[in-house]
Amino acid sequence: MNMSRVYNFSAGPSMLPESILRKAAAEITDYNGSGQSVMEMSHRSKIYEEIIFGAEKLMRQVYGVPDNYKILFLQGGASTQFAAVPLNLLNGSGKADYVLSGQFSTKAYKEAQKYGDVKAVASSKEDNFTHIPDLDKAAFTPDADYFHICFNNTIYGTRWSYIPDTGDVPLVADISSCFLSEPLDISKFGVVYGGAQKNVAPAGLTIVIVREDLLGKARDITPAMLDWKLAADNDSMYNTPPCWSIYMCKLVLEWLRDEIGGMENMKKINERKAALLYAYLDQSKLFRNPVLPRDRSVMNVTFVTGSDELNAKFVSEAAAAGLVNLKGHRSVGGMRASIYNAMPEEGVKKLVDFMEKFEKANS
Ligand SMILES: *Cc1c(COP(=O)(O)O)cnc(C)c1O
Repeated sequence: MNMSRVYNFSAGPSMLPESILRKAAAEITDYNGSGQSVMEMSHRSKIYEEIIFGAEKLMRQVYGVPDNYKILFLQGGASTQFAAVPLNLLNGSGKADYVLSGQFSTKAYKEAQKYGDVKAVASSKEDNFTHIPDLDKAAFTPDADYFHICFNNTIYGTRWSYIPDTGDVPLVADISSCFLSEPLDISKFGVVYGGAQKNVAPAGLTIVIVREDLLGKARDITPAMLDWKLAADNDSMYNTPPCWSIYMCKLVLEWLRDEIGGMENMKKINERKAALLYAYLDQSKLFRNPVLPRDRSVMNVTFVTGSDELNAKFVSEAAAAGLVNLKGHRSVGGMRASIYNAMPEEGVKKLVDFMEKFEKANS
């Protein structure tokens, strides 16, 4: 790794593989002999079509997206999809179920409440979101238009260890912070969506993967820009797409395929990184991970000392050592190491070494 680069543990935007940053840099003024940067290209040009259709095809191959699902390259972040989900789906019974497992799922729930009869069927709020709530099927709404979960809770460092069975009710999942981190059986979901800036590309791109039979149910009032069917019918080019981020997404997918060797390998690497950190935390006398072990995230690892002062000291000394953005989310405090796909194993080892030294010096 280039010595001037730091290990960035930010929850997002986050690190991108250095090799693709170099590739993008090499192509920045002249993409593939076109005499133009991707940033300057018409999205209606042949050369750009190769990029966007290439990214779509690669996503299908690398992530195993079934043929009866559309992949949409949109904008507005996962937060815009909190409204787009009800505006596209809440049009049958007008009812939907939400599981509250953290801040983003709660935001999604509040947004959906503007549009219909939306119920929270489970919540772990009273336990400070330190686990995924247990589900009671008797509480589910049998005729709901959909059932919503957040698959990896970025702020609290929890993740679903299984895909809930919602029967005929389409399961919709925010996968922003675990996108492309491990193999995912997309056929178990009606819709998955996420902002790209955690694991997939720079900020600006939002990806929605939707089963085809769920298209065409949008409400009359749904803004054209939020209508998934309109996006699908126009190959994600109803208006100008986030051209550069889609290009970077294609490079990330090539990296996953060629350098990592696919999703199974990515999962193994990610699990190794997380295991290193959790093993250290579990034996540490200074640091502690507050999450129920069953539900620990592989992507976002939260930890605390007993003291706000020591937490702050840790974050600033770590930054001075080239381990940056380890401060926890402002709503929970403490520390958080986001160790997405592009965080090298070396970075996690350096973090654990640093934590050991810090523990010795401060006990
Ligand atoms: C980051 C994040 C969001 C918010 O994403 P934006 O793209 O900034 O709107 C929503 N959900 C989850 C799970 C996230 O990690």
